[in-house]
Amino acid sequence: MTIVISKKRRTAGIRPQVEEMSGVKLDTCYQCRKCSAGCPVAGPAGSAPSEIIRRLHLGAGDELLQSGLVWMCLSCETCYGRCPMQINFPAVIDTLRSLSIAKGIKAPKGDMPLFNRMFLQNVKIFGRSYDLSMIMGYKLGSGKIMDDAEKFPAMLGKGKMAILPPSGADKKTVRRIFENTAGVKSKTK
Ligand code: SF4
Ligand code: SF4
Repeated sequence: MTIVISKKRRTAGIRPQVEEMSGVKLDTCYQCRKCSAGCPVAGPAGSAPSEIIRRLHLGAGDELLQSGLVWMCLSCETCYGRCPMQINFPAVIDTLRSLSIAKGIKAPKGDMPLFNRMFLQNVKIFGRSYDLSMIMGYKLGSGKIMDDAEKFPAMLGKGKMAILPPSGADKKTVRRIFENTAGVKSKTK
């Protein structure tokens, strides 16, 4: 994906906000690209981790939030593990997602923000991920009710999906995490 940053731009863009919210200092990135070489989705997403950091250095603004990697990142932390400067890029991606949602920027492909929202909502309610409820919420929200429906019986048969909600989660602690992070969320507005 090509992200055009105006040569005339003289502002820091969204970089200060990203650094404050993620707690990651981006100055130490020296563009060795080790992170990008190991990222499994840099190719399909059209944006590598090192490119996103460079764009932040150059003062990118909202256009960066439209990058494919913002929503296709798997949070596998390979980039973090490979970085000689220990730059926590997954935390940067989480911040970019929060900013993207707060600013109402549409994801470039699919309904990843909706999927993300359904996942978090389920964790908040059940204390853990409850796949069946999450998928139903996603299908109703996206209107793709029958997509992949033929796979459902096989997944149930192989025990890949539980009918009943998960039990034994520490719901109280999970709820507290959501309450504590609500303050961070308000900084995106
Ligand atoms: S591995 Fe670390 S230092 Fe190298 S480009 Fe990626 S973020 Fe920058
Ligand atoms: S955490 Fe995201 S950006 Fe980093 S290597 Fe994995 S998929 Fe790529």
